[in-house]
Amino acid sequence: MSVWDEIGEAAAGLHRQAFVFDAHADTLTEMTDRGYDLDAGPAGSQLDLPRCAGGVLDAQVFTCFVNPKCLPQGADRVRAQLATMDRQLARLPGRVALCTRPGDLGRARQAGRLGAVLAIEGGHAIENDLGILSEFVRRGVRTMTLTWNNSNEWADGCGDAGRHGGLSARGREVVAAMEAHGMVLDVSHVAESTFEGVLEVARTPLLASHSCARALREHPRNLHDDQLRAIAASGGVACVNFYPTFLVAEGQATLDHLLDHFDRFLAVAGEDHVGLGSDFDGIPITPRGVEDVAALPRVTAGLLARGHSPEAVTKVLGSNLLRLFDAAPVERSLPAQGRPGGRADVTNAHARRPREGSPA
Ligand SMILES: [Zn+2]
Repeated sequence: MSVWDEIGEAAAGLHRQAFVFDAHADTLTEMTDRGYDLDAGPAGSQLDLPRCAGGVLDAQVFTCFVNPKCLPQGADRVRAQLATMDRQLARLPGRVALCTRPGDLGRARQAGRLGAVLAIEGGHAIENDLGILSEFVRRGVRTMTLTWNNSNEWADGCGDAGRHGGLSARGREVVAAMEAHGMVLDVSHVAESTFEGVLEVARTPLLASHSCARALREHPRNLHDDQLRAIAASGGVACVNFYPTFLVAEGQATLDHLLDHFDRFLAVAGEDHVGLGSDFDGIPITPRGVEDVAALPRVTAGLLARGHSPEAVTKVLGSNLLRLFDAAPVERSLPAQGRPGGRADVTNAHARRPREGSPA
C-alpha cells in the first residue's frame, strides 16, 4: 500500500493541494561528498527528485553545510556545494529551479519543478569577510545559520562554552549585512546568548530552520518556549527537526514523538509560525515511519488526526515558509529564476566531509 493510500483521501488531497516546503536538508552536502545527482539518490539517502514527485514536496531549502574541520577554507567548501547545485540546474532544468526572488517558488511549482532555495549552515563559512557573504548572495544564497554548533569569530554556537557572550559587535555587523542583502536570519544552532543578541538587533522575521521543542526534550539544539514566542513575535517561522536525538531522550522515536513536537510548536508559537525542518540527509537515523521525504504525507495525516485544522496544517506544510521567503527583499543584482551567474572557481576542494561530524 502506498503512503497516499494509507493516509486516506482527505489527508492526501490536502497534502497534494498544499505548498509543501521544507526549511532544511543536507542533501546538497551529501551529493557533493558522495558524487551523485538529485534525480538519483543512492541507497540510504533520504531525499531525491523521484521521491519528491507527485506533490510530496514542492520546495526545499538546500543547505551548504560547512564542517568547522574544513576551516580555514570554509568558503571553498560552500563554493564546491554551489557548484553541485549548478550541475543539477544544468542537468535537470525542467525538474528543479533555483528560487531567489519573490514569486519564484510559486512559479516553480506551477511549472512542475522542485523549488530550490540555497542556504549556508555555519556562519564561519564566510571567513569573517562580508565580501564573501556578498559573493554567496550573488550566487543565490538566501539564508544562513549564524553559527553551527561551534562558536565562530563573531557569534557563539550552542555546542561549546562560547567566546563572545553571544553576538559580538562584529556579529551585529554581520546580521545587519545579512538583512541589507535581504537574507533570512536563521537562529538554529546558535547559543541562547546569541539568540538574545539577535533579538536585540534584528529587524526582520527570524527563521529557526531545524530545531525541536526544549520543553519536551532537554537538548541545547532545541528551542525554549520563550524562544518560540520570540520567533513568532518577529513574524518568523520555527521549523521542527525530525532527528530522533532531538525528539526523545532515549528509545526509538516514532511519528507520534515528532507530532508531539509539532503540537508544542503550534501551541506556543501559533499556527502562523511553524514549519517543516526535516534535516533529511543530515540525520543518520529517523523516526520510525518517517524514513525519508516520501513519508511526509504521514505527517500531514498525523497533524489532521490530532485535530489541527486543514488551514493550520496547510500553513505548517509550507505556506508559512513561503510567506517568509517571499517577503524578504532581495538584491536587484540577483539573477532571475534559473541558473545563477558566476562560476565557482573551486569545485573539489574539501569535498570530503568527515563522516563522524553529523551536521544535524
Ligand atoms: Zn544542523
